[in-house]
Parts: sequence; C-alpha cells; structure tokens
Amino acid sequence: MLLTITNTQAPASDLGYLLHKNPARVQSFELSFGKAHVFYPEANDERCTVALLLDIDAVGLARNHQKPGGEGGMLAQYVNDRPYVASSFMSVAIAQIFRSAMAGRSPSHEQLADTALPLTARLSALPCRGGEMFLRHLFEPLGYIVNVAPHPLDEQFPDWGSSRYYTVELAANCRLRDLLTHLYVLMPVLDDEKHYYVSQDEVEKLLGKGEGWLAAHPEREAITQRYLRHKPYLTQAALARLSEDDAPDPDLEDELHDKEEEQAEEGISLNQQRLGSVLAALKGSGAHRVLDLGCGEGRLLHLLLDDKSFSEIVGVDVSYHVLEKAKQRLRLDHLPARQQERIKLLQGSLTYRDDRLKGYDAAAIVEVIEHLDPPRLTAFARVVFEFAHPATVVMTTPNAEYNVKWESLPAGRFRHRDHRFEWTRTEFQTWAQDAAARFGYAVRYLPIGPDDEAVGAPTQMAVFTLLS
Ligand code: SAH
Repeated sequence: MLLTITNTQAPASDLGYLLHKNPARVQSFELSFGKAHVFYPEANDERCTVALLLDIDAVGLARNHQKPGGEGGMLAQYVNDRPYVASSFMSVAIAQIFRSAMAGRSPSHEQLADTALPLTARLSALPCRGGEMFLRHLFEPLGYIVNVAPHPLDEQFPDWGSSRYYTVELAANCRLRDLLTHLYVLMPVLDDEKHYYVSQDEVEKLLGKGEGWLAAHPEREAITQRYLRHKPYLTQAALARLSEDDAPDPDLEDELHDKEEEQAEEGISLNQQRLGSVLAALKGSGAHRVLDLGCGEGRLLHLLLDDKSFSEIVGVDVSYHVLEKAKQRLRLDHLPARQQERIKLLQGSLTYRDDRLKGYDAAAIVEVIEHLDPPRLTAFARVVFEFAHPATVVMTTPNAEYNVKWESLPAGRFRHRDHRFEWTRTEFQTWAQDAAARFGYAVRYLPIGPDDEAVGAPTQMAVFTLLS
C-alpha cells in the first residue's frame, strides 16, 4: 500500500520541513499493524515527492484479533486484501507518522505550513465501494482535480470488467495539512470498512478532523455514515452536531431536561439527600477504591474527593460532554498533584464489558438505570456484578409511586424526558432481587426523601453486598 505526495512549488524539497522528515533519509516506523517506511523518490528544487509505504503484517493482525466466524470465517482473516489496499491502516499511519504536519505545526516553516501549495497525492490501490462517481463526489467539492484509473478484475480476462480498486491521483492547491486531513477522513469512507472498533471516540475524531469542511460538504451524510460504519446511534449524534445551526443543540436540551427534573423534585432538596445517603452507604461498606458509574457532571465525585477515606475514585460516563463538564466542575486540571492522582474520569458504556472497572471495592450507580433501555438491563447487570464485581454496589432510581405527589408532573409522565422507565418499589425490588441471586449478592433497600405511608419515598436505594 503506497501513498505519494508531490509538491511542485520551488524550493519543492521544503516539503521535508513540513513533514518533519528529512528527504535524504529513509525512515521506518513500527505500527501496531506492521511497518511503515517514509522515503523520497525525488527531492529537488522543482519537484519533491514523499512516499509512505505500509508493510502490513496480516498474520500478526489475525493473531491479535481472534474473532472466529464473521464474514468468511478464520481464513478471511489471513487471506484478504487488507495488506494491499489503502484502507483505514493508511489513515492511522498518516495520523501517527505525519501527526505534526496534519496539525499544521512547523516551527521552522510556519508560513509555508499555512500556504496553499500545488500538491498531488497518488494512491496505488484505493478500494472504492460506490465507484468512481462516489470518489469524485467526495474529493471534487473540496477542490481536487481527480484522476482515476480503475484496476481490471483480472488482467488476463478483460471481459470481467473493473475491480473496485483504483489508482487515484488528487491534485489541488491546498495546505499540506488539509490534504492529509482529507485523506485521513475519506480513505476509510471509500473503503467503507474499518479495522478497529468504532466507538464514541470516533465521533469526536470525525468532528475534530472535519472541522471547517465537513459541515458544508454535500456528501456529509454519506461520509458520516460510512466513517462511523453505519452505526445509527453514532451517526445521528455526529450529524446532529454538524448541523448545529439548523437543529436544536442536543447538549442544551440535556441541560433543560436536567433543570426539569430538578424542578420536579424541588422543595425537598432530594438530590442532596440522595448523595448523602449514597455516601453514607459507601463509607459504611468500608470501601476505599470506588467507582461512580454514570457519574454525570460529578456531584458525587465532588463529595468523594472531599472525603479522605476514598483513596481512588473513578467516574465513568458514556457522554463525553458531561465528562468535560465534570472535569471543569471538579477543576481537575487545577488540583494539586496528590489530589489529581486520586481521581480519574473514563468514558465508557455500562452495557459493554469493560475490564477497566475490575478490582474496585464499591460502585455507586446513582439515577442511571432508568436511562437504560430495558432490553440492555441484563447486559448492564453482568457488566456491574459479574465483570466489575465490586464487594458493594449502591444503586438508586426514582420510585414511580411517588410521582402522584408532584402536582407539576402530569399523570403517566416520567420525571425526566430521557427516562426509559420509572419503577414502583416492587418492580425495582424484583429486578434487584433477581440480579443479587444470579450473581451471588445480598441486597437491602432504603428509602430516600420523605417516606410517605401510601406511596413510599421519592427515591429508592438498593445496597448490594457480595456474599463470600
Ligand atoms: N449519577 C449522576 C448522573 C445521573 S444522570 C447524578 O446523580 O448526578 C444519568 C447519567 O447516566 C448521565 O450522565 C448519562 O450520560 C449516563 N448514562 C446513560 N446511559 C449510560 C450508559 N449506557 N453508560 C454509562 N453512562 C450512561
């Protein structure tokens, strides 16, 4: 798999300064999927071409990626086109080896880094699902002159027609950083297959790298969909953020919803009572190393940090946005080093096994389960009780029976628009009892807030303890 980039503006070999790679040397880099070599087939005043050659270790990759089955089974992992085509491997290689160039950093040649240059990129075997038209639709709106030569499926049998591989030349007057970024995002889009797991991080990556061009690109939906590998949840999140101008800001909506919930529970400062009860349960368990799963903006984390009995505190949330807020609220970047060492924020979903959560004394899960889709609760229970497996789990959720006490809450409505359900005391206890029995825990229940004789308290808490 080979990428070359040619600069024809004299002195052309200044390209070496922008790439932070000396034209006189051949350099090799170890990557997680094989080796990459950078060299300059030509470097003079008029023309300078850099080549990035990937030497992918297909066998090593298959060994590190034991996932039998899938399309084509085990054999397909060893015998496939991955080593030969410019796919997301090339993207990853660009991001690692030309990182500074892609960020536009060139202390010695800053002005040149900001200048549009006559650049031509050439890719020798670019797979393109969607054909030549799609390829043109991706690059031409960005100002590239696109030259395409399809590879025949088999040179011996021209009747078989073209394969989905192309030799592609992209020429434009643009900054090097833009060329690298466009290749970085669009190569895996063309290939429509990524070799690594696509997570929420990829949304951030796409939006970061797409800044300044993706939002206005006519194919932005196809690019987003393919880049995020057709995951509707991630795609929607990214598209919503790309069209922030014409759609309601989802983060703002979240904040409004939070306010609504606070108002519904107003008057009893339920939130404080809840956090106080959770903190007491955690302290009572003797835990030192604790998880706050679904930590949100970090209200509980704040209390935990203030309490010396907790030596290691980990907040986990699926939302990057709320974690950023937690970081600000807790002023994590400004804490003294000793304090900083005690606390960590992790992005992750509680419905997927996560080995980072193993080995803690206790986990708090405050007002989170009602945000999960009911069919995911089984997976959630395994993640918490079977895989993370702390000795104590403190869980709270609204008590639906209490809702009749709130005048402002119309009958049949939940306290928060994002709640997928709200349980009665019997419903919560039935679920908790079942989970406790399945994973070897004992469980007790405590009311939080004013305990009404008929409908109980507004919040219900379950404390699970591991049976030895
Ligand atoms: N515990 C916090 C926040 C409760 S709001 C508090 O009491 O203030 C619910 C939180 O759960 C939100 O921050 C939401 O992002 C998070 N959440 C929802 N689904 C999640 C999932 N699958 N994995 C991890 N966190 C999740």
